[in-house]
Amino acid sequence: SREIHLASRPQGWPTADNFRLVETEVPTPGPGQIVVRNQFMSVDPYMRGRMNDVKSYVPPFQLDAPLDGGAVGEVVASEAEGIKPGDTVLHGLGWREYALLDAKAARKVDPTLAPVSAYLSVLGMTGLTAYAGLLDVAAMKADESVFVSAAAGSVGSLVGQIAKLKGASRVVGSAGSPAKVERLKALGFDAAFDYHDGLVRDSLKAAAPDGIDVYFDNVGGDHLEAAISSMNLHGRAAICGMIAQYNATEPPAAPRNLALLIGKRLTLRGFLVGDHGHLRDQFVQDMSGWLRDGKISYDETVVDGIENAPEAFLGLLRGENLGKMLVRV
Ligand code: NDP
Repeated sequence: SREIHLASRPQGWPTADNFRLVETEVPTPGPGQIVVRNQFMSVDPYMRGRMNDVKSYVPPFQLDAPLDGGAVGEVVASEAEGIKPGDTVLHGLGWREYALLDAKAARKVDPTLAPVSAYLSVLGMTGLTAYAGLLDVAAMKADESVFVSAAAGSVGSLVGQIAKLKGASRVVGSAGSPAKVERLKALGFDAAFDYHDGLVRDSLKAAAPDGIDVYFDNVGGDHLEAAISSMNLHGRAAICGMIAQYNATEPPAAPRNLALLIGKRLTLRGFLVGDHGHLRDQFVQDMSGWLRDGKISYDETVVDGIENAPEAFLGLLRGENLGKMLVRV
């Protein structure tokens, strides 16, 4: 069995040297435990923060130990009630071929309802993040205008589509390449722009001439500044992520226009998907229905092989993914 360890802590942008591929024995389960042969694992932007040795809402990764994160796979051995070999489970021990865990830490999923990778993307954590952030945190209502950044990514592409389904008057997305901009238009975004083409502030003003009511922030920095500048009275922002600064070694230069919050009575609200588990059942029901009716599309970018998981993670930070970045283990 092979797994990926954190060999050293990155300063700024991570490199391949920060990771190490390690050979171990396939584990055997103790009482109450299962062994899972991972099929897909997730790489996520938040993992960059866990590579730093700082106190945060999730503990840092340990050096010379396997990384962890969302994964889905098939149970190959079980000493637990209610889970048997052949079952498919979702759990938190990615970055390895075989995972040994307490059955209590795994959730059974139905591989006949959706491709198993979907439990890490559209039906999983990033799907719930989009749903909860847009509808609960930002409380988007019909006839409102919405802007989302990193819009061709896993969370962002779902935010835009859910906004349209919920009756948004206009949905605008930003992304990092012309191909991604084309994809957003195909997904039903009313307007989309490449943030490399001039100032985000100008591009957003042109794409949403009547302003925006809701901003779903995945990027921070110049995107957040532009959104504040374009926001209408009583606008709300769901602050989901600030990927533009995850590898920064200096504090961000923007936003410089926070004083606008006062006159426009804006609300900027940070959130963590983990606090919105109460919406999971409703989310799964809505999202399954939209998928079944062909009302939502989702993209996945799949990298093959556990040995390429570090490269998949680096590719995610560089924007090489369309939709969810996954590793087929
Ligand atoms: P994505 O699939 O969106 O992948 C990340 C994308 O970010 C890349 O594809 C890239 O696309 C874009 N990006 C990278 N660097 C920059 C930059 N400097 N400026 C603008 N865009 C950049 O990832 P996720 O959907 O998994 O996550 C999206 C955001 O949501 C992240 O900020 C993440 O931290 C956050 N998140 C927060 C959660 C919460 O509970 N609060 C839960 C899950 C995710 P491009 O080519 O367009 O640059």
